[in-house]
Amino acid sequence: MATLHEFVLHRPQSLGDAATLLAEPDARAIAGGTDLVTNLRHGLERPRTLVDLGGIPGLDNITMNDGALTLGACVTLAQLAMEPRVQALFPALCAAAKSVAGPGHRSTATVGGNLCLDTRCVYYNQSEWWRRAHRYCLKRGGDTCHVAPQGDHCHAAFSGDLAPLLLVLGAELKIAGTTGPRAIPLEGLYREDGAAHLTLGRGEFLAAIRIPAPRPGLRCGYRKARSRGAIDFPLAGVAAALELDGGRARALRVALTGTNSRPFLLAGTGELEGKAIDAAALAKLDKLVQKQVKPMRTTVTASNYRRQVAAVLAQRLVRELVQPA
Ligand code: SF4
Repeated sequence: MATLHEFVLHRPQSLGDAATLLAEPDARAIAGGTDLVTNLRHGLERPRTLVDLGGIPGLDNITMNDGALTLGACVTLAQLAMEPRVQALFPALCAAAKSVAGPGHRSTATVGGNLCLDTRCVYYNQSEWWRRAHRYCLKRGGDTCHVAPQGDHCHAAFSGDLAPLLLVLGAELKIAGTTGPRAIPLEGLYREDGAAHLTLGRGEFLAAIRIPAPRPGLRCGYRKARSRGAIDFPLAGVAAALELDGGRARALRVALTGTNSRPFLLAGTGELEGKAIDAAALAKLDKLVQKQVKPMRTTVTASNYRRQVAAVLAQRLVRELVQPA
């Protein structure tokens, strides 16, 4: 990997100071840096200013109020996975955090960083010389997408592991900015564009994540398929939250990652509510997933495999959630 380019590093002590610094042109927020520093070393970005959010008091706090959980954006994945209150209330969230990379990464990588992870593509996440030799692509430096050369759109895939579970749990975000904080639902953070998948404006950054108290009896889980079982990004990842009422689904939410440029809630699961989770319901779920995922040739694994595996993971997970605890 190449050496880092020259930049100025700031370590603000308040949300307002951080927002002011990030409003400057060519400024970039950094927390754990496990995604960003690799990208900087690959020359994928060359910000003149890095704003380290790790010095802002409270951003590494985990708090509970009326059963709702609030995670500061700089809470590390290891901290999240080991927190007894989270383990008691949201064990699936701890499991999803533990499924990210290896222990060394999780001790540094943050919840906010995992939600704001850059999109990935086999033609993009490469060294400078590799990309130059293969011709730069549309996302940076070139004018053609090597995955879909006829189009004018980047299809790089979002690969964060926490987002799908937080989507099915109905998480809300606190976004800090120069005009003060605002709250948005998690799905509002993303758009389907691999070159600009976050909706944050200039000077804005993710400050906290609020997860409402789970309804009694809610069953949740997250499953992912990856090339290397111990440490890899998801080729496809599925989260589900299921409420049962006498063997029938009272509520079902499913969300996916790794297949599109954004994590997303599966549309149409309402059709399964009020019904038994039987073979017909799982076949319907299979169809919904296969229709809505859009895996492209952005990994070394075939697109159709990722489509199929997403549908299989969704069916297996929902079938598991139906079983008695
Ligand atoms: Fe580049 Fe296309 Fe890959 Fe986007 S999907 S990173 S434009 S090759």
